[in-house]
Order: sequence, then structure tokens, then C-alpha cells
Amino acid sequence: MRYDYLIVGAGLYGAVFAHEAKEHGKTCLVIDKRDHIAGNIYTKEEEGIEVHRYGAHIFHTSDEEVWAYVNRFASFNHYVNSPVAVYKDETYNLPFNMNTFSRMWGIRTPAEAKKIIADQIADLNITEPKNLEEQALSLVGRDVYEKLIKGYTEKQWGRKCTELPAFIIRRLPLRFIYDNNYFSDPHQGIPKEGYTALVSRLLEGTEVMLNTAYRDFIAAHPDAAEKTVYTGMIDEYYDFCFGHLAYRSVRFEDEHLETDNYQGNAVVNYTEAEVPFTRIIEHKHFVFGTQPTTIISREYPSEWKEGAEPYYPVNDEKNSALYEKYRALAEKDDKVIFGGRLGTYKYYDMDKVIAAALQDVKKEF
Ligand code: UDP
Repeated sequence: MRYDYLIVGAGLYGAVFAHEAKEHGKTCLVIDKRDHIAGNIYTKEEEGIEVHRYGAHIFHTSDEEVWAYVNRFASFNHYVNSPVAVYKDETYNLPFNMNTFSRMWGIRTPAEAKKIIADQIADLNITEPKNLEEQALSLVGRDVYEKLIKGYTEKQWGRKCTELPAFIIRRLPLRFIYDNNYFSDPHQGIPKEGYTALVSRLLEGTEVMLNTAYRDFIAAHPDAAEKTVYTGMIDEYYDFCFGHLAYRSVRFEDEHLETDNYQGNAVVNYTEAEVPFTRIIEHKHFVFGTQPTTIISREYPSEWKEGAEPYYPVNDEKNSALYEKYRALAEKDDKVIFGGRLGTYKYYDMDKVIAAALQDVKKEF
């Protein structure tokens, strides 16, 4: 057994890398410890509904090259993400836009909204937001922060908003027009046949071994490949030699319901701290499903521990500094390439993962 590349993880990064390597005449073996491909973008059909098994994934991008690339492997529908936020008995549109402000304050014009926000933050004097709380307050004022951000964010991250980096909230657009599109990118959609089919096409012609953990595999086959592409947790790869990086995990509680439409939207966020889950996903609405029944998933975030699935890197100061140590170690090792959310400890969206993989491939070949 001798390959050019051993790719650890059959997720999006690994699959793009494998595809490109094959195109360049290289041989790859992809291994994954799970019993399926596609990593956390894995979707599985249940009762005719494509269920996002590890959390909802909505593809969106401003990168023309990436958009052209994914369209070679999947056909995308015209889904536009417009989540709804529930706070106690109040319902708001997301992202923060004129529909949100109008409902919050009973106003109609952008000037009225801007004035209320400015009044609410006048005495705070925030010039350079130092953390997520300051960033959120300076963008949307105290009411929106208290009702729609604080509770949700502290549940999601298990940390105070004052201890979280500002960039997390800048993922969301802020608009003074009536527009509920969660993303500002020109391209958006869900693969009509699911993400698993997309990854499967990327992996066509590449050997994949499932139910195969890296440690066991490499112990049995130390010379399997010239080089390793590792998309698992970078701290785990180095045996946690500098200590553990923090990750957030999510537990999904599914319900199959005998109704054709439970919540009228794919994504409904529950923003108050007292509700233990962050959101409910109703999967069929991602693809305009017309089945007589429905499947919903409640998301309960938690701190990652051994045995759970890691989903989100925690890019606070402490963990970012720790990651830098691992990154420095990786930089010295020309036999391994790290990729994806876990390998590079980045809160990546899918399009950024693909862009990074294509970039790394260019460097490599
Ligand atoms: N967020 C919030 N309220 C919401 C939705 C999101 O405060 O109703 C904040 C929260 O801090 C979250 C961040 O915005 O972590 C990014 O949200 P996004 O929807 O991008 O998270 P993802 O879909 O990646 O879980």
C-alpha cells in the first residue's frame, strides 16, 4: 500500500483535495472514522426528507470560482435563508434589518431605526469594539442585543459575550432595508440531491475506507503514503502536546411529526437564555418539500469533550494563542497538510473550505 496522499477525513476539504489530486495524476486514499462520507455536511434521506444530520448547512458564496466549481458536482436550488427569531412571545425576522427594527420599535423608516440605535449606545462611547458584546451593541443597540443576541450567543458558545471575539457577530449582515436574506452573497442554495451526493461525486474514482480511525490505520500502515492531508482536530494530531483546544459541540434531538408543516420555516432561532436549545431546523423546507410528514431537529450546544463530535472552534484569545503553537509546529512539518474547520481551527463556511482546498492544491502541484 503506497499512495501519494493519505487524506484523513472524507468531509468537504478532504473530498476537494482528493478530487484535485486525482486530476493531477496523484493517488489518494481517503480514510474516515465514521461509517459515511461527507463529514459534518452529511445529509441522509429519511421518509423522503433529506436530513442535515450534523446541523443545517446552507451554501452561499461571493466567490465566482467556488460557485462554478460546486456547480460541476451538484445542482443547487433557489433556497434563500431567512431565519425567524423567537424571543418569549415575540417573533422577529433575521438578520437584523428594517423588518426586525420595525417590529421591535413600531417604526417605519431607516432614519427612525438609526436614531433609536444611536440613542441606545450614545453613552457607551465604543470606538473599537473589543468583544462580541461591544460589537453587537455598537451595531444594533441595546434592545436587539438583549433580546436577539445575548441569550442565543451565550447558549451557543457557553461563554459571556464579553469573552467572545467580535468577528462572530460580524458574520451576520446588518441592513437598513426591508430584506430578510441572511446572507449578502450573490450565490446561495441547497444541493437538490443533498450534500452527500455532492461529496460522493467529488470522491468518484478515489479509494475511500470508512470506519477507519487514523491512529489505528497509521500504526498498521506507517508507510501508507508520501504525505498526509489531515482534516481532524489539529491538537489531537499532535497528541494534545500543548494542551486541548476548545471546541463547541451540538446535540441534536429529532422529532418525526405527523404534520406537513411544523414551523413554517427551515430555521427558527430561540434567542432567550431560558430555552435550552438554540434553534429548531425543519429540514424539508430547505428543499421546498411537500411530504405529508415532517422531521425537526432541536440543537443543544455544549462544550466538546472526548467522545462527542467537535463542530465549532472557539476562537477566543486563549484558544487562538494555543492554536498558534500547533500551527507553528505544523509549518515545520512538510509531510502533513492541515485543512478544514478542525485542521485549521477556523470558523469556516463551506465556500471558504473549498477556496482553501483549491488554494492548497495550487501550492502543492
Ligand atoms: N446570533 C445571534 N442570534 C441569532 C443568530 C445568531 O446572536 O438569532 C449570533 C451568535 O453569536 C452566533 C453568530 O451570530 O454564534 C453566528 O450565527 P450563524 O447563524 O452564522 O451561526 P452558525 O449557523 O454558524 O451556527
